[in-house]
Amino acid sequence: MANDSYRSGFVAVVGRPNVGKSTLINTILGNKVSIVTPKPQTTRHRILGVDTHEAYQAIYIDTPGIHRKANKAMNRMMNRTAANALVDADLVLFMTEANRWTEEDQDVLVRLENIAAPVIALLNKIDKVHPKEALLRSLAEMSERAEFVEVMPVSARKNENINRLVDLVPGFLPISEPLFPEDMTTDRSENFHAAETIREKLTLALRQEIPYGLTVQIERSVRDEKGIEINAVIWVERDSQKGIVVGKGGSLLKKVGRAARLELKHQLGLPVHLELWVKVKDNWADNEQDLLRLGYEAP
Ligand code: GDP
Ligand code: MG
Repeated sequence: MANDSYRSGFVAVVGRPNVGKSTLINTILGNKVSIVTPKPQTTRHRILGVDTHEAYQAIYIDTPGIHRKANKAMNRMMNRTAANALVDADLVLFMTEANRWTEEDQDVLVRLENIAAPVIALLNKIDKVHPKEALLRSLAEMSERAEFVEVMPVSARKNENINRLVDLVPGFLPISEPLFPEDMTTDRSENFHAAETIREKLTLALRQEIPYGLTVQIERSVRDEKGIEINAVIWVERDSQKGIVVGKGGSLLKKVGRAARLELKHQLGLPVHLELWVKVKDNWADNEQDLLRLGYEAP
């Protein structure tokens, strides 16, 4: 497949939390490589989504949203992870929400000032903008903010204008052999994906602060011809959170386990048996050693 004109390189997707970065990558790949929820700080790691074609391979880098209130070690690690992705990038997609500009968007823009890679600004969630004429002003304002190579209105969730974006990408990638095997869609393991799926369902089921204080660790996963058996620990930061995560008579945990199991079963095409335990690790999200042990590391 590779030839002298083949292109391959990295496309970093950055922006404040919750603008739709992970949704964009999932839509482009047609595959859920990164979890999505309506809550900020859902993505905590750098996750690669590899999009291989006849003539090029684009490696999208999903990043945690760059955010201000970074007062725990995990939050600082997340901001560092996002900043590091910019260093590797051949192209940067700077995502914002259409018709909305916040101080956190401005913070991200400042970080883009000194990078070498070209930047495309994406105004996402245009499906929420009515009438469409209202977009014109947003587009004009964005174009004033920096030297973007393009400013594009898109809807990652509704797959609007995404094809146009995808068609632009190879033009910014360097001539190179494919950097990853062509059958690879992500750099993350099945266990990582299982843990993330459980965390997604927990985040959807829990209110407010709790999702930020929990993480999921796969203790054991065994695959045989009958299916996959996964034992996972949900770590919370405080004893008081344990009961909330378990729910009355174990109801919340049951609901989360069921949702995660069904999704994993659908994705893996195999029966999945899931066992969830809730344990307390005091203040793990602000402890560098715990973070490393739990798989959090700025690449
Ligand atoms: P991230 O934090 O930037 O990765 O954002 P996510 O991809 O997790 O999405 C955050 C929320 O925005 C989720 O509820 C998504 O379903 C929603 N979202 C993402 N893209 C769109 C879009 O194009 N339109 C609308 N209406 N919602 C979107
Ligand atoms: Mg995300």
